[in-house]
Amino acid sequence: MQIDIITIFPDFFRGPLDYGIIRRAREAGLVKIEIRDLRAFTRDRHRTVDDRPFGGGEGMVLKPEPLFESVEALNVAPREERAATKQSVVLLSAQGKRFDQSLASELAELERLVLICGRYEGVDERVGTYLADREISIGDYVLSGGELGAAVIVDTVTRLIPGAVGNEASTRQESFFAGPELGGNDLSARNVRPLDKLRAGSTRADSTCASGGLLDYPHYTRPAEFRGMKVPEVLVNGNHEDIRRWRRRSALEKTLRNRPDLLEQVRLSDDDNEVLAEIEAASRGRS
Ligand code: SAH
Repeated sequence: MQIDIITIFPDFFRGPLDYGIIRRAREAGLVKIEIRDLRAFTRDRHRTVDDRPFGGGEGMVLKPEPLFESVEALNVAPREERAATKQSVVLLSAQGKRFDQSLASELAELERLVLICGRYEGVDERVGTYLADREISIGDYVLSGGELGAAVIVDTVTRLIPGAVGNEASTRQESFFAGPELGGNDLSARNVRPLDKLRAGSTRADSTCASGGLLDYPHYTRPAEFRGMKVPEVLVNGNHEDIRRWRRRSALEKTLRNRPDLLEQVRLSDDDNEVLAEIEAASRGRS
């Protein structure tokens, strides 16, 4: 996969994409990330990238010409052929479609991704209408530029490229992941019971570890007791089935507490619904 980031602050990306999984994926050639300086595509002496808004109002707007020329210089397919050629040109924008794990999975299938970072009051609307094929927002807040958004997208997408994370199954067990788990023959399934392996092929949200679109379950490591704070007993001494139940229950609890909206979107099993009813009854009892 090749990712190009178009920005007026190329130095911004020194650092965020040079560590951990992203760095290793780049070194292994799984992803090629190129930073393009928008000012290189200006033609005037002052290398002007912005201008005042038509109709008046606050601030400055990124001009269309350098943005169109910078994308054209990358030889990406014309808009109408991009989907078929597994390419996409994305404009980072607070007005875009909200980025989430399923959009990340969609982008991870691409061969070519171009990210355009806006600045100032934003970008001439013709860039969104005629040049980019989509606008993406990383959340309901306003950043001062698209660069942090681009870094978020590159990080999230890169770790989904097969091979980027040492153990591919682990990206399927995390918060929000709603797709099927990997088949039962991967090494990560070593400590998973045969029954769970069987289930792992299905998209049902009830296997040992997959979040099925919920938040991830809590993780603990050694020491089992730290400053008097203990790791839940079941994880230390429980059997696999108890651990599976505890993890599922904890994920449901945390999702109910922090992101009840997610519960509307996931497919819950009868067991899940029973557990949720218990949790809700218990919390009513407390209040
Ligand atoms: N006037 C715009 C905000 C401009 S902020 C508005 O009210 O919608 C400047 C640039 O930062 C934008 O062009 C965009 O590229 C980037 N940006 C701001 N918020 C963002 C968000 N939530 N997600 C992605 N990019 C964002």
